[in-house]
Amino acid sequence: MSDTPTTSTKRTAVVTGGNRGLGAAAAKALLRDGFNVVAIYIGRVDDAHAFKKETGIDVYKCDVSHFAECKEVFGAIEKKYGTIDVLVNNAGITRDGFLHKMEHKDWEAVITVNLNSQFNTTRQVINGMRTRGWGRIINISSINGQKGQFGQTNYSAAKAGIIGFTKALAQENANKGVTANVICPGYIMTEMTGAMNPEILEGIRKGIPMGNLGEPSDIGEMVSYLASDKAKFITGATMSINGGQHMA
Ligand code: NDP
Repeated sequence: MSDTPTTSTKRTAVVTGGNRGLGAAAAKALLRDGFNVVAIYIGRVDDAHAFKKETGIDVYKCDVSHFAECKEVFGAIEKKYGTIDVLVNNAGITRDGFLHKMEHKDWEAVITVNLNSQFNTTRQVINGMRTRGWGRIINISSINGQKGQFGQTNYSAAKAGIIGFTKALAQENANKGVTANVICPGYIMTEMTGAMNPEILEGIRKGIPMGNLGEPSDIGEMVSYLASDKAKFITGATMSINGGQHMA
């Protein structure tokens, strides 16, 4: 990571988990639409640097489940770019299993990475956004936070929590020019879904009225729209992007 200050007057967007999957699609769409973009990753150092080389998107290593680490890394990003104007809370993990068999560590990991991270990152940027009178918080939940999913009590709880968090945040900041919205993707083809049992995935595909999984850009384009001035009157909204699988 480099902390040479930039003199750019562009708005700066930080995307957690921005080096691959849905986050990478969001990061690329934001870059195309004129933002400075920083992608946060956790462990795949070589991949993240290859992503930086390929796209020109800056990458920072940060565990979003650790408040102190977020404070340090977001401070470094702000020092380099001047402001953080858009935050996309996208990093997430799954640790599936029925509740009656689930180990405490799998509950804890999913809640910590998916839900506690919302506080850890948003707390670093919200005051600056309020002071400047412009900001965008875009949180990535899931269809399974809306409807629940067997084998995912931990994930469904965390993702439902993100929806409540976003609505409260939207109310607190609506009069400060800061919007907060949540996107609930359905099943999108990424490594996360690629790791699923193919038979289960095929069963899910058959239940999607459009007949297919989505593509990462289906989510990335919505992120970039919500980050734009065009979306200035949208706050506290839940965007369901799922090929018609669940009409919330
Ligand atoms: P991937 O598994 O493909 O990528 C996860 C990303 O999150 C990676 O960039 C990873 O970094 C990063 N990450 C994981 N843990 C941490 C952490 N503790 N701190 C910082 N970064 C972390 O996920 P997807 O792209 O499929 O999903 C993105 C989001 O969308 C997730 O929140 C997921 O729950 C949600 N979602 C996905 C759906 C889908 O069908 N794919 C459907 C509904 C919701 P690294 O590369 O270093 O490991």
